[in-house]
Amino acid sequence: MDRVYLDYAATTPLDPKVLEEMAPYFTQKFGNPSSSHFYGQQAEGVLEECRHKVAHLLGAKENEVIFTGSGSEGDNLAIRGLAFSQKSSSGRDTILISPVEHPAVMNTARQLHDRFGFKLIEMRIDEFGKVNLDDLKAKIDRHTAVVSVIYANNEIGTINPISQIADICHDAGVPFHSDAVQACGYLPLDVTNENIDLLTIAAHKFYGPKGAAAMIKRENIGLLPVTTGGKQEDNLRSGTQNIPGIVGLTAALEITSREFEAENKRIVGLRDKIIHFVLSNIPESHLTGHPTDRLPNHASFVFDGVNGNDLIIMLDMVGFACSSGSACKVGDPKPSEVLLALGLQPELAIGSLRVTLGKYTSEDEIARFLEVLPGVVKRLRK
Ligand SMILES: *Cc1c(COP(=O)(O)O)cnc(C)c1O
Repeated sequence: MDRVYLDYAATTPLDPKVLEEMAPYFTQKFGNPSSSHFYGQQAEGVLEECRHKVAHLLGAKENEVIFTGSGSEGDNLAIRGLAFSQKSSSGRDTILISPVEHPAVMNTARQLHDRFGFKLIEMRIDEFGKVNLDDLKAKIDRHTAVVSVIYANNEIGTINPISQIADICHDAGVPFHSDAVQACGYLPLDVTNENIDLLTIAAHKFYGPKGAAAMIKRENIGLLPVTTGGKQEDNLRSGTQNIPGIVGLTAALEITSREFEAENKRIVGLRDKIIHFVLSNIPESHLTGHPTDRLPNHASFVFDGVNGNDLIIMLDMVGFACSSGSACKVGDPKPSEVLLALGLQPELAIGSLRVTLGKYTSEDEIARFLEVLPGVVKRLRK
């Protein structure tokens, strides 16, 4: 069977050019960057070169790049690190997040609330999942330790007004973190232009390797390390750096930074073709997330009278790999919390489908997908 991958929001294939860059760092240039001999210096050299490039590409300074092991780890370090550092330095004990955060942010904030005595407040969002700025202004105060808002949503594609959120946080003197794992590779990211204090990205979402990620932390922001040990990464993330992974992350970021504008034009065309076709050919179908302020590669829907998990399984049986929302909810029959937070009824929210495209998605693949989708939905409704 000719399979079609339409789940780029879950992960992406590695770009072969990235693999080529990584290869020597597994075998010949395998040193530990903390060692002082030749091998160590070689690894340290490439590590700092990567840090320089990543900083430049994201509008940060070199000493503001912290390499981590995953997007989830970056989110944890940002939320946990800020919460504990703010609480111990100034007694601030409130975490303020949107109700549609990725579980890496949401469950971290919930644990800090449930087990460590932090207050957890959620700001209001509109029907598309965008943060309500007036509500943020009303809720942020001198007790707020951290504000975290997802840059572009993994389940519904909606892009938040990040610079405006950042400005509100800065006026209130509160550090602002944004999970940009889904945005990186598709949207221009610049922490200086956008005034972002902490930003999380992960390489495997933009054609880099799994297990390599970065968090940007502006130099004036204090964090308590979550992983203690040999004091690598400015003592914020102990552990020997994953040099091949970091080389891969850097190569992937360089490539997407060069290619994304041209590539987005093509991908938006395919995305809009899907959205238009579904809404006009499948009765009782609804787009979730914002109609225009959404990720270029992201189409998401709910269908009345359909179970999303069954839909994914049926589509998989005929060769199409899609998702019902977040990859972090496999086998969970409950409707998505994100969709419920938008105000959808549970019966409708359970019928979700997420189709996410990438640079290897072809027009022909989308044509084939749209040929089978209406029939599959119809069959499930019987
Ligand atoms: C994938 C994803 C993460 C988690 O990244 P991992 O590298 O899989 O831990 C976090 N946030 C968002 C928005 C994501 O899409």
